[in-house]
Amino acid sequence: MARVTVFTLGGTISARGGDATRMTGTEVLAELGAATGPDLDVELRDFRRVPSSSLSFEDLAELADEVRATVAAGSGVVVVQGTDTLEETAFLLDLLCTTEQPVVVTGAMRRPDLPGADGPANLAAALAVAAAPGCRGLGVLVVLADEIHAARFAHKSHTTSVATFASPGAGPLGAVVEGEPRILLRPAGAAAPCHLSFDPAVRVALLTLSVGDRGDLLDTVAERYDGLVVAAFGAGHVPGWLVEPLAALAERMPVVLASRTGAGATLSHTYRGPGSEYDLLHRGLVPAGPLAPVKARLLLHALLSSGAKGPAGYDRPRISAAFAHLDGTGLA
Ligand code: ASP
Repeated sequence: MARVTVFTLGGTISARGGDATRMTGTEVLAELGAATGPDLDVELRDFRRVPSSSLSFEDLAELADEVRATVAAGSGVVVVQGTDTLEETAFLLDLLCTTEQPVVVTGAMRRPDLPGADGPANLAAALAVAAAPGCRGLGVLVVLADEIHAARFAHKSHTTSVATFASPGAGPLGAVVEGEPRILLRPAGAAAPCHLSFDPAVRVALLTLSVGDRGDLLDTVAERYDGLVVAAFGAGHVPGWLVEPLAALAERMPVVLASRTGAGATLSHTYRGPGSEYDLLHRGLVPAGPLAPVKARLLLHALLSSGAKGPAGYDRPRISAAFAHLDGTGLA
């Protein structure tokens, strides 16, 4: 009999009535009725009862520790949380919990008291994936609306649609059909470039540029942060006047160049003028490749927690290699 441990964290799936209270893990599982199936040994961990926007780094670090211990004991895992930050939890678990066991993150878009509530169907599909031998070795997965996404690609793409999760630039790995997972694609290797840890005290800023930005926030970053991800224009562009401040910052801390577009990789040498990707990479910024800015922030955070920063500065080659590990060039 397959063993699956379900961690409930709150979110819409547990937000009956929409007020501040969240259902218990037992109540969330009870919504499934008999749909867990007789062949499943389900253990419940009522971990948190919060909107996912209120999950802290401390919560996520503790969750990763518990998930690591659970998979080491031979159980598959389903994490149930709100969808707002679901892709970030899933990617962080992917970085911190390298395992062959299926680890699946799911949630719901419609409250349990609304017509067409999707929580029970998503939970049933997530349990099926977490219990399936064919879903081992895929890294952490996101399962909603019967689609199976890799955590590194999954993105909440719509505020209300039940099919909100997409994998821009890649596509889902598979689907759950008639209750059975069907895997069509496998990710190229593990997400983590090496063993990574996560120190909640590390501070990585995310700055999304918008037209006319004068860079005033960069002073605060310099004073208070250990690293920066810039969600830049297009394939990795900033206004010419931000090159000097960003280059000065990159001498002191890692500055990762990501794209605010939502899909596709940062370029390296298509544009060469001031503020181009070529300019910025030659001034010390690290390319995020296809990694979304919010995920680049978590990877940089984990790297800085794992020895990529020391008294003598930061280990730029190691940080660049970790981002390159996820950019697909390793396959060439
Ligand atoms: N969608 C919200 C979340 O991500 C719902 C909530 O406030 O529970 O948690």
